[in-house]
Amino acid sequence: MTAPTFTQPEAGAVDLGQPGADENDAVAGELAHIIRDASTNAPRSRQSHIGPSEVGDTCDRKIAYKLLDWDKANTGNDPLASIIGTGFHGWAEEAFSRPELGGRFIVEQRLTIAPPLMPGGSCDLYDRLHDRVIDWKVVGDSVMRKYKSEGPRRKYVVQANVYGLGWEFLGYKPREVALAFVPRTGYLSGLWVWKQPYDRQVALDALRRMYTIRDLIIALDPEANPAMWSLIPADPGWDCKYCPYFKPRSTDLSEGCPGNLPPKNPTTAQAKAA
Ligand code: SF4
Repeated sequence: MTAPTFTQPEAGAVDLGQPGADENDAVAGELAHIIRDASTNAPRSRQSHIGPSEVGDTCDRKIAYKLLDWDKANTGNDPLASIIGTGFHGWAEEAFSRPELGGRFIVEQRLTIAPPLMPGGSCDLYDRLHDRVIDWKVVGDSVMRKYKSEGPRRKYVVQANVYGLGWEFLGYKPREVALAFVPRTGYLSGLWVWKQPYDRQVALDALRRMYTIRDLIIALDPEANPAMWSLIPADPGWDCKYCPYFKPRSTDLSEGCPGNLPPKNPTTAQAKAA
């Protein structure tokens, strides 16, 4: 992987043509450019191995791209939500490390899971009093409502249990996994926790699936035969737009996956097609 480079925004690169634009917009544009550049080159963004947060994704093709460290097709997503989440994680790391807590919590522990394919990851929190694995999720209002009514995404449940397995490898005996959802735009009173007993089998099944996808990659060799990408099953959904390999209307899966997103408004789409 090449070293990250930073390019200064060109003077006057910000479009001041929009109504109400002034030099403050140019200042905002420059700040936003620096923030986006730092986010793009953050270690987490440049991580090449698959991690616990990705191994439970429902899309085999996305996992295959990740296992091959494929070039990302979708790099333009707004990074702010992720930056705010990272900021909260840093704050929580300090808060839960305070000596007053008597070492009850182990924070940001590096866990070895399944090297070399998935070396491991850093677990947000382990509560030694309850042998509970805790993962912070900083989310917006609509997502919080969705998870409260439907339950959290499967990949988060897998992630928490994969961490549990990592803690077992370290000699701990996790009994519970928890996802602590922090409202990104709300108040602390809106903190919501989902939890269930630790289930080692969930983690083992996820690792077995990862190795099955690895074997499929070896058998199909999409690097040498790009047409073979189509034989790796995809699971398109509403979140394809956040997938690093999403490329709208792509007809070449080696360049990116079209995701086959359903139209936003099927009624309108049908009317236009008629
Ligand atoms: S764009 Fe959607 S369907 Fe394609 S690899 Fe990503 S998650 Fe899977």
